[in-house]
Amino acid sequence: MNIDIVGGGPSGLYLSLLLRRRRPGWRLRVFEQNPRGATFGFGVVLADSGLHRLREADAPTHDRLVAAMRFADRQRIVHRESPIEVLAPRPAGAITRIDLLEILTAAALERGVEIHHRQRITQDDVERSLREADLVVGADGVHSIVRQCDEAGFGTTKSSLGNRFAWYGTTKVFPSPALVFRPQGTGSFVAHYYPYSDGMSTFVAECDARTWEEGGFGALDDAERQARMEALFAPELEGHALISNNSSWKPFQVLRNARMHAGRKVLIGDAHASAHPTIGSGTRIAIEDAISLADALIASPDVDEALAVHERTRGPEKAKLIGASERSYLWYEDFGRRMAALDPHEFVYSYMTRTGRIDDERLAAQFPELMKVIGERRRAAATP
Ligand SMILES: Cc1cc2nc3c(=O)[nH]c(=O)nc-3n(C[C@H](O)[C@H](O)[C@H](O)COP(=O)(O)OP(=O)(O)OC[C@H]3O[C@@H](n4cnc5c(N)ncnc54)[C@H](O)[C@@H]3O)c2cc1C
Repeated sequence: MNIDIVGGGPSGLYLSLLLRRRRPGWRLRVFEQNPRGATFGFGVVLADSGLHRLREADAPTHDRLVAAMRFADRQRIVHRESPIEVLAPRPAGAITRIDLLEILTAAALERGVEIHHRQRITQDDVERSLREADLVVGADGVHSIVRQCDEAGFGTTKSSLGNRFAWYGTTKVFPSPALVFRPQGTGSFVAHYYPYSDGMSTFVAECDARTWEEGGFGALDDAERQARMEALFAPELEGHALISNNSSWKPFQVLRNARMHAGRKVLIGDAHASAHPTIGSGTRIAIEDAISLADALIASPDVDEALAVHERTRGPEKAKLIGASERSYLWYEDFGRRMAALDPHEFVYSYMTRTGRIDDERLAAQFPELMKVIGERRRAAATP
């Protein structure tokens, strides 16, 4: 079997190393436009549920990843300058994106995967691959070239959200992850930060559409916006600067495909459906796509049958996660209005229940203090 994988991000690398481990005779080529060791962003979070799947799929790689992670079991949510601490049901691990990719790259190379860095694949290259390989995998992110070869076949739809965000790093190592919602003038901002190594934290700053358009934030350049965020979140940054890595303010691209495969092309990870950063699961979803596709290909030597099985099993499971992502971004699109309307406890309750995956009962078990206050409010409101 010959498989060409476009994109050496988490999903493409993970697929290649899983397949080579279980089918050492297969020819697997990964094409990545960036040089080894270069990437966007800083640290990413991998939820414990995702780690569990990784351990089952490939214990040695899981162990290497866990050794490079920094774990946190709580997060602070700050609204109207009142911090409320929320315990996570299970600790979440954060890892430098470069370390994540380097661990996966090293594991793939050790197993005999061919990785071609600095090779940007074009539509002609995809057509050539289709003539030579049994399967072409689009693991090439939201701007996937494999998808662009057949958007009608995949059933592609695209749209942009109204909020804007930028992904920074900082040398301030925060004691725990936090979300800080803070108004400035008529604008509404939120910073989401989490430590991911002994010397660095990720710092994602976001504003709503009103702040961008009417509040004048969109009229500034990226350097001015960075300076504004450093000033607004100075109490948290405590003198540390924000570090940019091409950190421009962009709207989130909502990318969907009705089908995971079209002919002998298949999309995994963000190339198939983009997950909003606020559920902290894009990497996990991308890696789980790779696990499902690898399982299907190992189980069936017939590529068409394997793709059909992958679509049937992974499709509904992924749809649930993408549904949670959608409910999360809809909440964020309106966060300025919620900041104005809700007090800190109501705000945190609204935030915690935004995806519909946590109900009152689970929240009461996880966070009794919050539910005690919410319960008292509800009783008072119901009393005539
Ligand atoms: C601000 C922000 C914060 C985030 N935080 C988290 C988080 O905390 N936790 C989490 O799990 N996820 C997070 N994500 C999401 C996560 O980064 C993605 O969901 C994940 O990287 C998807 O993996 P992937 O392999 O599908 O695609 P990508 O990581 O996008 O990898 C695609 C690869 O393909 C390469 N490529 C693209 N086109 C070509 C081409 N034509 N030829 C060759 N190579 C090509 C790219 O260079 C890239 O290396 C965040 C995203 C953002 C924007």
